[in-house]
Amino acid sequence: MGEVESGAALLRTRRHRQDRISKHEDPNEIIARVKGERFREYRRRFEASGRGEIELDYPLDLSIETIDYCNYACPYCPRVLDRGDGTRIDDAVFERLVDEFAEGTGGLGAIGFDSGEPLLDKTLERKIAYASAKGICDIIVTTNAAFLTPDRGRRLIEAGVTKLHVSIDANTQETYTKTRGGVLADVENNVREFMRIRAEMGSLLPIVRCSFVKSELNAHEMEAFAEKWAPLVDYVEFQDCIDHSRLDTLYDYEVEPFWCHYPFQSVSINAKGEIRPCCSFYNQHLVFGRVSDGDTIGGVFGGKQQAELRRQFREKRDFDIVCRNCRVAPPASFGIESRPLLQPAALPAKGKPPGRK
Ligand code: SF4
Repeated sequence: MGEVESGAALLRTRRHRQDRISKHEDPNEIIARVKGERFREYRRRFEASGRGEIELDYPLDLSIETIDYCNYACPYCPRVLDRGDGTRIDDAVFERLVDEFAEGTGGLGAIGFDSGEPLLDKTLERKIAYASAKGICDIIVTTNAAFLTPDRGRRLIEAGVTKLHVSIDANTQETYTKTRGGVLADVENNVREFMRIRAEMGSLLPIVRCSFVKSELNAHEMEAFAEKWAPLVDYVEFQDCIDHSRLDTLYDYEVEPFWCHYPFQSVSINAKGEIRPCCSFYNQHLVFGRVSDGDTIGGVFGGKQQAELRRQFREKRDFDIVCRNCRVAPPASFGIESRPLLQPAALPAKGKPPGRK
């Protein structure tokens, strides 16, 4: 936990590559008020395993990409080079994964829909309701909110989302055009309306975060962004912008010993069914299993490759080249002209991504 400064009912904290301004000292405590002691138990295990104090025999953090596509192609996201082909996770596969995760964790775990643009999946709410009914106590959606209509917002709340992470990255249309490319006023209205609906429904959940990836494109708008959103949502987060433009090339970096919590508690599965130990963009080099080959979440987490990553972090030596590149990934620097900058995709008819019949 970083430093905490108290001021005007908002708390400012600094963590690795993140600054936060929050209404709550610990937003998870709000969720615990709703979910009860089992949520606290999950958070205790999450924190302890993340610090390496306890060893898990099954992950408690599962990231699932339900659709390999995004309507935006932000210049600091790898999707600027590859927007995705629209592959969707099969419903039966999704349910099988959730069933396994619910059994493996006893529900004391998190499922994050945090890759691709999850709201492009029209069945997202059904998937969330399925996970919620299986007892998964933390369900996180990370979205650009372009499709967060009032109707979908209401359905997300009813389905049982515990955290809604909204990526905005700008305070004016001029900057939004550079950082994301859509219509900022629409996104802002969607988030404001979502907050109104949450209050109208008398729900404390989901906890809502608005985030801002800092770069030279938008740094001049950070203060105005914080002033606008910190009073409205549960917390605002500023994240350092990392250069992901060279993900395909791994360099033989030397690094100081460091710690990464992901291999100790996480598994990530993309829409094609590739199973990886973390949700870093570098994970494309760490495919440890495939759903199509019959691999399971528990099997990959307990398997040789993920165990070997844990050994490296525990012993602080022999770091995998992928992790070394992830560790030293440099801050992005734009040269807008030097980067491809796409406009928002004209959504294919009826919001369906390409490659889908
Ligand atoms: S690539 Fe390695 S260092 Fe980066 S998040 Fe994944 S496990 Fe951690």
